[in-house]
Amino acid sequence: MMRQYELVDRVSSYDPLANEDLLNRAYVFATQKHGDQKRASGDPYFSHPVEVAGILTDLHLDTASIATALLHDTIEDTETSFTEIEELFGREIADMVNGVTKMSLLELSSADTAQAENFRKLLVATASDIRILLVKLADRLHNMRTLHFIKSDEKRRRIAQETMDIYAPLAGRIGMHNFREELEDLSFAEINQEARALVMERLSELNEQSSDMLAEISNTVSSELSAHGLEVEVYGRQKRPFSIWRKMQNKSISLEQLSDIFAYRIVTQSEDECYRALGVLHRTYRFVPGRYKDFISTPKINGYQSLHTTVIGPNNQRVELQIRTREMHDIANRGIAAHWTYKDQQDERPDIAKIEPFNWLQDMVEQLKTGETAEEFLENTKLELFTDQVFCFTPKGRLIALPRGATALDFAYAVHTAIGNSCIGVRINGLKLPFRTLLKNGDEIEIIRGETQKPMATWVNHVRTGKARAAIRHSLREREEAEFMALGKQMIESLFAAEGLEAKGSLLERALGVMHYESLDLLRLDVGRGDISAADVLLAVMPKKRRRRSMIAGAVRGLMGRSTHKATSHPAILPLNGALYGTVVKIADDHFPLPGDEIVGVVTMGQGVVVYPAAAPDILILEDKPERLVAMKWDEEAETLFASRVHMTAVNRTGSLSVITQTIADFDANITNLSFIQDSDDFCELTVDVEVRDVDHMEQMMDAIRGSRVVSEANRVIFKS
Ligand code: MN
Repeated sequence: MMRQYELVDRVSSYDPLANEDLLNRAYVFATQKHGDQKRASGDPYFSHPVEVAGILTDLHLDTASIATALLHDTIEDTETSFTEIEELFGREIADMVNGVTKMSLLELSSADTAQAENFRKLLVATASDIRILLVKLADRLHNMRTLHFIKSDEKRRRIAQETMDIYAPLAGRIGMHNFREELEDLSFAEINQEARALVMERLSELNEQSSDMLAEISNTVSSELSAHGLEVEVYGRQKRPFSIWRKMQNKSISLEQLSDIFAYRIVTQSEDECYRALGVLHRTYRFVPGRYKDFISTPKINGYQSLHTTVIGPNNQRVELQIRTREMHDIANRGIAAHWTYKDQQDERPDIAKIEPFNWLQDMVEQLKTGETAEEFLENTKLELFTDQVFCFTPKGRLIALPRGATALDFAYAVHTAIGNSCIGVRINGLKLPFRTLLKNGDEIEIIRGETQKPMATWVNHVRTGKARAAIRHSLREREEAEFMALGKQMIESLFAAEGLEAKGSLLERALGVMHYESLDLLRLDVGRGDISAADVLLAVMPKKRRRRSMIAGAVRGLMGRSTHKATSHPAILPLNGALYGTVVKIADDHFPLPGDEIVGVVTMGQGVVVYPAAAPDILILEDKPERLVAMKWDEEAETLFASRVHMTAVNRTGSLSVITQTIADFDANITNLSFIQDSDDFCELTVDVEVRDVDHMEQMMDAIRGSRVVSEANRVIFKS
């Protein structure tokens, strides 16, 4: 364990502004508070905060961060209060200790939802002061280093999994690669011991075969560069077992095929020398095509800069090279923490929001406010943490970094939510293209906007970033609520009308108090959603009113009649368009109405509006609940294919089936399912599910099938009878 004076000397050695008195007091305070508490290892508990502080001195963090590390477990594990720390060490440190404590408390549950929620809170907490996250990562690193002392298998596993899923990618995201690799490897050892043992075994074999290769290659490379007047330092190292394992998984290669397990960092004196060194190495060795990347001219989103290339080096060994300056090297290892060193030393507290490469943190906080569920958030964030970036430009030259696989629509949302919401198309490098086009590095993108454009449910399939997904879902939710409100209004009005009443606001307001609603809108929303019925509202308004039983056929006909006349002015008559209103409207299972058929919607608890063919027997069951029926019409603009079903009797001979499928294909319809029952030697019965545009399309296709002479009978199945 590091002694008090050693720790203080270390901080002073890199930080002339270090407050030695404060560090001494924090050290003594924490020793006393933790007293004779013990770790699972049997060590005095106090060794843990000291180790965490030590890890942070490697990152050259400031006095407040080191003191926070020393004090980080006092509030949680000892009789220490926030006020006590505030009085002794000031508000800044008290807030940081409090932040770390909150994060630790979040770790206590293990279910996936809870984990996602934790992550959300963790990010909100860190966005206020990134140093809290740095202390937390160091805390986790030390706990992982001592994980094997914990006796419970289940607990060890949970901690390792959480580290792998959340803390390691997060460390990577803020550019702290050494942290990331060590966290991953320690988790790997716990989660997949067998795999790690395999990799280690293979590594030691390779090391036996080529014991001095690492040094040999380093020497050859540096003397080659020296011969060209470049004085560099070369650091060769074997990759960590987990990064080797991940490479094997990603590229589906075996251990035997695995050759590039060595990586070399070449540290030059200047940026210019990086490119010169690259030139020399590419002329000296055969380079592997497709592996060259220039992260100097376009840095990674976490601020990482280097030139990457792979060459066939000495001994025909594939060698991965990373060429960078000293400062780039430092930032690559220490990530966000390095910004403390390279910042103006007078400025005691760098503002994280002003460090360009970390703007994404602010973006994440924005996302949290748009009300995604915790699972959605975790899913999105996990994806983003693991992917590489593409770099694109606005017409004015603003650089936008997006995860690889992002589309032009993601780009629009990255520029501004309002721009994404109104996007109708894009020009990429001057060429007009659909907004779902995948982006490539260096693309220049101009967004074409439409005044009346609104996000559709299918857009979610065309974006990759959490920000875009959250914005689309948010907008859909808002519109969905507006639709349910309008629907609820119509349901209440039609039931009241059937009772000879007018559903005036003044009348309905009586229901608010009785039913505990704050506003008519909220009441209508719940009626529209089917959470409460319009009849409940009627009873609340007029408790003595006895509802007459309406004849279902009449109710349906009445609604139908209205729908054709007032189709455009009536807000609650929804276009049936699965793409646009997928969350509100769906077609009933085993029912196959097509545009051209009469349809009716049924408000169904928890499902929104379920649409049936108007003639379906299921509608009749609703005889006593006419307020649940909603008039529907087809959206003529929709270019969707609809599921339909055909039942046919075909001649049982070779080639019959191919005639049928060919006919269907000729009509541009898709077969989605096909089943048949052998009825007799001469005939067989077939049920074919096909996707078609509308009734006409279906009829024409059926005529052609009937005319083919291999089919004796063909009928549309509209509903299950
Ligand atoms: Mn701790």
